[in-house]
Amino acid sequence: MPTPALRTPVLLAGAGVAGSLTALELAHHGVASIVVERASGPPRAADPVLISGRSMELLRRLGLARELRPDGVDPSCPIDILWSRAAGRAPALTWRLPSAEELRRTYAATADGTAPIEPYLLISGADLAVRLRRALRRHPLIDLRTRWTLTDVREDRDGVAATVIDAEAGTRVVIETAYLAGCDGADSTVRRCAGLSLEELGPPAPYVTVHFRSAALAGRWPNPAALIATEVTLVTGHSGDLCVAHLPVTADEQAGVGDPAELLRDRLGLPGDPPEIVAVAQRTGVPSIARAYRRGRVFLAGQAAHQLEAPVDEVDTCIGDAVGLGWRLAAAVHAWAGEPLLAGYQGERRQQALLDRELARRALQTRRRFQRLVESGANEQVMAEALGQEAPQLDPARTGAPRTAGRPGFRPPAFRLAGGDHLFDRLGPQFTLVDLTAGQHGWPLLSAARARGIPVRHLPVTGVPMPAAWPGRLVLIRPDQQVAWCANDVPADCGAVLDQVTGTRQALYENT
Ligand SMILES: Cc1cc2nc3c(=O)[nH]c(=O)nc-3n(C[C@H](O)[C@H](O)[C@H](O)COP(=O)(O)OP(=O)(O)OC[C@H]3O[C@@H](n4cnc5c(N)ncnc54)[C@H](O)[C@@H]3O)c2cc1C
Repeated sequence: MPTPALRTPVLLAGAGVAGSLTALELAHHGVASIVVERASGPPRAADPVLISGRSMELLRRLGLARELRPDGVDPSCPIDILWSRAAGRAPALTWRLPSAEELRRTYAATADGTAPIEPYLLISGADLAVRLRRALRRHPLIDLRTRWTLTDVREDRDGVAATVIDAEAGTRVVIETAYLAGCDGADSTVRRCAGLSLEELGPPAPYVTVHFRSAALAGRWPNPAALIATEVTLVTGHSGDLCVAHLPVTADEQAGVGDPAELLRDRLGLPGDPPEIVAVAQRTGVPSIARAYRRGRVFLAGQAAHQLEAPVDEVDTCIGDAVGLGWRLAAAVHAWAGEPLLAGYQGERRQQALLDRELARRALQTRRRFQRLVESGANEQVMAEALGQEAPQLDPARTGAPRTAGRPGFRPPAFRLAGGDHLFDRLGPQFTLVDLTAGQHGWPLLSAARARGIPVRHLPVTGVPMPAAWPGRLVLIRPDQQVAWCANDVPADCGAVLDQVTGTRQALYENT
């Protein structure tokens, strides 16, 4: 017998990066949620993740950028990406990503507002998970239930009823909710229950990931490093003596991976005692994306919605999903926006996942070209020249400028206000009207928004030089720090502008 139903405005399945951040984004907008998580605690061993500067800007809104930094790698250390024909050989080429501190200085000296206000963060996935778990537990609007597994979903016109198993109590619980977000990873139960199918974007590229401890390997390079050799990618220096090896395998090898220590020794050419294995995971590496991110009141985010073939930077896509879904669901719960805004989630985020997949594919192609060069017997100099040409395109930390423009659908140029604060730190949780008209022309739009219950913070700006690309004297900025609308004067029809920014005219955001 199921126990009586629990009720919540939003239910989230999964407390990984996508689920945790969606819950925190909802809470940022004052919306309560229940998060059910199958596992009892965060993963013990996880891959290092590189969070880009743009994603750190989004996390800064939630107070997380500062909280995560101490757990990241030393900000004064650059990251070395070493390309080598074999694990034991000297690299043909080393790409050095500037350290977070160096980038912070570069960004501070960039006056056109295109530079992020936060540098990237390299952090162990396990430390990230622990921090996010703590943030969920201490937030009064978030009810985290671990060892609760979602097993079934029923939806009708007014809401969703999810069945969840509470492993500790051994009971079945029904949770009634207005919206359900499936953030339950690659094998998503929510996706299956909602009948949302995956579209495969390419052939499988199976690989085995081995987490192991080796002081000798971790100490081999002075900085955090990723060694890319033909038969292995080895990541070190992100978390003490923990090393992570991604080993591409054939389908036959995958079926027969018996002794991971042996496989490691073979691929890395490790002498002596077998390394201490911490965890092993096998992946099929099929790049795929959900054909739809939504059915009715049920949504997908993170790896439930998209997976890349190789262990690459997917975390930025997951962070963007969480923010994009969180603020829209909050708007729907607060009833100041409706269907069109929710529909915009899929339009924007699916397109972004396809774009990110394209970048991942390009990185994979570089690796394959490198492998062909090795197999053809090319010497170190030829390999270095070929790789050197591709380096600027393959920036795993996305250290370059985020897509900034003074147009709707893009991040606005950043600048500091007269008191020295960053613009981004003074934006409201919902919309913000940045007003350069000495407070004179913003009022009609603000009054119209208030009359409709759309929350807009008024931010008059005076006495500072504006970046050249700043788009107008009145700029309305969305909760996810994108330009929603801009003009130099009061719009003739404020209602039409508000229709646009709450999604009624979807064409507005087509370019995101
Ligand atoms: C091998 C591998 C290597 C990676 N390396 C990198 C990297 O180097 N850099 C990078 O940026 N990204 C990397 N990623 C991607 C990164 O891990 C993801 O971006 C991140 O984990 C976010 O995923 P998520 O929250 O969508 O899903 P997950 O992290 O998978 O979280 C899903 C959660 O849902 C829970 N769950 C599942 N089913 C249920 C259910 N029915 N009920 C309740 N809870 C459930 C799970 O226990 C889990 O906690 C890697 C991914 C993989 C698989």
